[in-house]
Amino acid sequence: MVVGIGNQRLRSEFLNDDVIYKKCDIRDTDKIIDICDHYRIYEFYNLAAVSSVSQSFNEPLLTEQVNFQAPSRILEDFFSSPKFSDRRRFFQASSSEMFGLTATEPQNEEVPFNPVSPYAKWKTEMHYRCELMRDSGHYVTSAVMYNHESHFRPESFLSKKVTRTAALISLGMADELKLGNPHAERDWGFAGDHISAAWMMMEKDFPSSYVIATGKCKSVMDMVNLAFKAAGVSGDYLDYVKFDDSLLRPKEVNRLVGDYSKAKKELGWSPSKTFEELIESMVSYEKSILKI
Ligand code: GDP
Repeated sequence: MVVGIGNQRLRSEFLNDDVIYKKCDIRDTDKIIDICDHYRIYEFYNLAAVSSVSQSFNEPLLTEQVNFQAPSRILEDFFSSPKFSDRRRFFQASSSEMFGLTATEPQNEEVPFNPVSPYAKWKTEMHYRCELMRDSGHYVTSAVMYNHESHFRPESFLSKKVTRTAALISLGMADELKLGNPHAERDWGFAGDHISAAWMMMEKDFPSSYVIATGKCKSVMDMVNLAFKAAGVSGDYLDYVKFDDSLLRPKEVNRLVGDYSKAKKELGWSPSKTFEELIESMVSYEKSILKI
């Protein structure tokens, strides 16, 4: 049985008879622990977050509460509430943004963190909290996840904005794409692959921390070029791109790329989709829903 806890309605795609849905804000930690006790939850996956780096600059206190204070409290209570199962396990979604302005490339589990946004700072604090719990004998595992995308992303993320706008332009329904920093380079993978890795980590006998990445680095403009090609937009894609300073972040991490050798060796995990397949499938999804 799976209990999904969220503060927005779960998308109908995820609802079926095997999933019990509970509406709850992560900051209501007492209610979350009550739900865990009631359903005898023995594996907890914490994917809740202020997940947009831009939003975290505008709402640093909310980011601290959601990305650090609430999950820290849940982590502690989860392991101290009445024990009904030996298999009590906690998964934390950590982030590549924790590496921040690093000089080391590619980044593996040994590279020191240098966070530069409220999002990254509180993800880092939570990551350390998980390490401490693990060191004191609890089953707490964390994935340092690089950017992971799918058509479920909201438009506040680059991949959704680019693939949707490319599809709109190809159908004559938009005429420009507004971007912030075009020079950023990221290790973009498929969200489904990253979630498979999370499950594989929780199946191991011993908890640890793993970098989950593709090992390939692409730029914002690589994504735009590819999406416009996949959408079948004619002419030069640069003619549609406008740069908007209001989309720039106060501090930017210019380049991140992960080394997932540990996950490959210990979990047998590798990404299943290339960057090209990922962006093409996202464009094709956008075109299919726009044509309905
Ligand atoms: P993030 O890496 O978790 O912040 O994921 P995003 O998808 O929000 O951003 C990926 C990269 O694209 C970042 O380096 C952004 O600065 C850059 N970027 C450039 N233009 C935009 C834009 O219009 N929207 C977003 N969300 N990101 C942009």
